[in-house]
Order: sequence, then C-alpha cells, then structure tokens
Amino acid sequence: MTAKRVAIIGAGPSGMAQMRAFQSAHQNGEEIPEIVCFEKQSNWGGLWNYTWRTGLDAHGEPVHCSMYRYLWSNGPKEGLEFADYSFEEHFGKQIASYPPRAVLFDYIVGRVEKAGIRDWIRFNSPIRWVRYNEAEENFTITVHDQIKDTTYEEDFDYVICASGHFSTPNVPEYDGFESFNGRILHAHDFRDAREFEGKDILVVGASYSAEDIGSQCWKYGAKSVTSSYRTAPMGFEWPDNWDEVPALERVDEKTAYFKDGTSRDVDAIILCTGYKHFFNYLPDDLRLKTANRLASSDLYKGVVFVKNTKMFYIGMQDQWFTFNMFDAQAWWVRDAIMGKLQVPTDMKTLTDDVKERMEREEASDDVKYAIQYQGDYIKELIAETDYPSFDVDGACAAFFAWKQHKMDDIMAFRDNSYRSVITNTMAPVHHTPWKDALDDSLEVYLQN
Ligand SMILES: Cc1cc2nc3c(=O)[nH]c(=O)nc-3n(C[C@H](O)[C@H](O)[C@H](O)COP(=O)(O)OP(=O)(O)OC[C@H]3O[C@@H](n4cnc5c(N)ncnc54)[C@H](O)[C@@H]3O)c2cc1C
Repeated sequence: MTAKRVAIIGAGPSGMAQMRAFQSAHQNGEEIPEIVCFEKQSNWGGLWNYTWRTGLDAHGEPVHCSMYRYLWSNGPKEGLEFADYSFEEHFGKQIASYPPRAVLFDYIVGRVEKAGIRDWIRFNSPIRWVRYNEAEENFTITVHDQIKDTTYEEDFDYVICASGHFSTPNVPEYDGFESFNGRILHAHDFRDAREFEGKDILVVGASYSAEDIGSQCWKYGAKSVTSSYRTAPMGFEWPDNWDEVPALERVDEKTAYFKDGTSRDVDAIILCTGYKHFFNYLPDDLRLKTANRLASSDLYKGVVFVKNTKMFYIGMQDQWFTFNMFDAQAWWVRDAIMGKLQVPTDMKTLTDDVKERMEREEASDDVKYAIQYQGDYIKELIAETDYPSFDVDGACAAFFAWKQHKMDDIMAFRDNSYRSVITNTMAPVHHTPWKDALDDSLEVYLQN
C-alpha cells in the first residue's frame, strides 16, 4: 500500500509544530505518512522570520512579516515554552522572560533543526490553489515554484493549513486621509520605531499592536504618542507624553479629530486595526471563515474543518498561548491522520462541539477566564496524545502575573521574571531594563 501524503501549508511556528509532531512519531518507530510542507518564503519561522521589506517581496508576493525591529516578546516566554524542548536545553542556561524576536526565532528553529526535518519543506513555494476531488477523496494542490518559475500540481490525502492569520492587514479608511500631509501606515508595514523619533504620532487601536508599537515609538524617542480607542481604553498608566483618546473621526492636512470633540496635530498615523483570516488559495468549500476568537468557527476540536474532515487548520484561534498550543494541536492532528484518534463522521457531533466551545468562550468577558479557557483547551488536547504533559495551570499563572505587571507599570513589565513550568527554574532578571535596552540583538540579550 502506498503511504498517505500530507500537505502542510506554511512553515511558521504552526507548520513547524506539525512537522515536529510527525517526526516525533517517526522517532518512536511509528510509520508516518509522507509529509510535504510548502512555504512561500525562502526560510522558515513565519512571522518571526524578519524582513525589512514591506508591500511585495522579491517575487511580487505580499510580504508575510508583520514584525518589526526591536520587537520583544509581548508575553512571558514561560507561557509559550515547548514541553519537549526547553529554553535551557536550547540556550544551555535559563534566560530572561521576554526575549527579543531574534532570540525566539533562534529557539523555535533550534527544535526543528534538532529534529532534522528541513528537507520536508519546499521553500519559495506559495500555494496557488487547493481543490478537493470528490471521486478520489483527495486534494490537488497547485504550487508555484518561484525558483524555476513553474507551476505544478500534486495530489495529497490530507491538507493542513498553517499559513497564519496576522499577515493580511485590516485597513479602515477615515475622512480626510487622502489629504493628510504625514505618513499613514498599517502596523503590518511598521518596521523601525526610529523613523518616528521626535514626531507626534497617532496609533489607532487599543489592542496589542497599538500598545506595543506606541511603546516602541515612545522608547525610541517619539515626541508624543496619542492612541485612540473605539470601545474601551487600554487603561494603563501611560508616560506623560502618551494620551489615550476616544475614536478617531476624521483628519485634515495635519490634525486628527476625535469623537469627544478634541483634536491634535500629528505627523504620522499608524493603523493598529488588526488582521484578517485570508486564504486566497482556498475555494469556498475548504475556506475557514472566522472572527479572531478563542473558539474559531467551523473547527471541531479547534483544528478539524467541519465541512471536510480531511482538512485541518492549526493556529487559527486568537492567541494567549502560542507555540505550546500549536504543539497540542499538531500532535492531535497527527494522531487523527494516523488513525489513533477518531474524528466523528456526523455533522451534528462536529458542529455541536464548535457550538459548545463558542458558548463557553462567550460565558465571560473576564481576561483571566479567557486565559484559563485556552489553557483548558491545551489540557484537553494533550490528554489525548503523547505530547509531554506539563503544568498548563502554572503557565496560566504566569499570564495572570504578566497581566498584573502590565497594570503596575506598562513600560517596565518586561523587567519581571517567571518560573519555567518545564524545567521549574526561575528566569533571571534581564541585565538591562527594557526601556533602556536599545540593542535587541541575540548576543546582547544573552549576555549575563
Ligand atoms: C506583530 C506581532 C507580534 C507578535 N508577538 C508575539 C509574541 O511576542 N509572542 C507570541 O507568542 N506570539 C506573538 N505573535 C503571534 C504569532 O501569531 C505567533 O507567534 C506565530 O507566529 C503564529 O504562527 P503560525 O505558524 O500560525 O503563523 P505565521 O507565523 O504567520 O506563519 C505562517 C507561514 O505560512 C506561510 N504562508 C502563508 N501563505 C502561504 C501560501 N499561500 N503558501 C505557502 N506558504 C504560505 C508564511 O510565509 C509563513 O511562513 C505576534 C504576532 C504579530 C503579528
């Protein structure tokens, strides 16, 4: 019998988790399907694979990266540590709790390099289309090989979509934008806070991007930061030159006007207005349509597409947990594909599961509830596979402490440290307070 073939779309943290899951079964002597991962960039790491580019890449594809220079983890690393590959194993020592992008990139790459799975990936290979063949009960995938500049088709028994959902910006338009005299950009195109040194900036939005991009600009010398919220302010104790104001209504050549009747002159407007789940390579019958929430629409167990149970999605939820949640999902999907776990065949059971998850998510607006909800989801999945069990509640506790540390001092929360739930060691306090640490290189961060 020929081996089943599995296509993974994207070699970001979710796709890397999926490959590691299959490799770990292989390492345990199990027979695994043939795995092919298609990645449109020339390297793995997904959003963590930084590029200075914005707009289009060298091949004319939309640039995937939404990250920027000087980005440090926005949550404690103790909340995302792999259960099978600790920070101590990778770096040979325990490190501080909020690593910059380059350090986290090094960590996630370290695990898959150890696993030896790079040759499962076809780089420079954007997926152009996926089609389900009813008669053959398989998928045909159309791929663009950008190096040879040829397009080809290949058949697979299962498809795992891991192409991320923080890359296609949601870009609103406000009255007066066309005659504004400064720069208007979306967070997706923000690369270097130094561009805004000495400038008065407006960040539109009240979520992570607004908080972090505003903080970066503040740290690297913006003259003032104004952030505008639609529903509720972020509510931190901001520095003196940062004001939170109600929703933006319109702008003219240099002035932004807000819902409360106030206005201010600004040099640049950064739209921190979120991202879209966007899959232009998927037909309607395979395409996930969901809001950015903890219980995604149409995903049984958060991973199986209810309209075609040979199609899986990893990492499509809004994220408190990231890398370890992708692992929990990847191990579960691996076992479903390998027949170790049964996916229900009747639509009612599949959709009842989705409904129950949504109702439970909607039962409370409390942040701690939401964190615990996602922690419980991880527990549920890992209890059904051989993913190493770890203290998920301890990781939730690190997130609770992080939330409090942000309320205590938004510009200093990254100076705290937490205990690893994998190795049980306490992270050291970083050698330099975040606000003074202008060099975010791996070498400097890892200095004792
Ligand atoms: C600005 C920003 C800051 C963040 N900070 C943190 C943080 O501090 N801590 C944290 O844990 N998480 C953070 N995140 C969350 C982030 O979502 C996850 O860490 C993680 O990158 C998600 O992994 P993923 O593999 O699901 O998606 P991605 O990282 O987006 O990877 C998807 C991959 O799919 C590829 N791809 C896309 N389309 C195609 C196609 N058609 N064909 C082939 N390949 C394709 C892409 O090139 C990419 O490599 C941040 C996100 C953003 C946007």
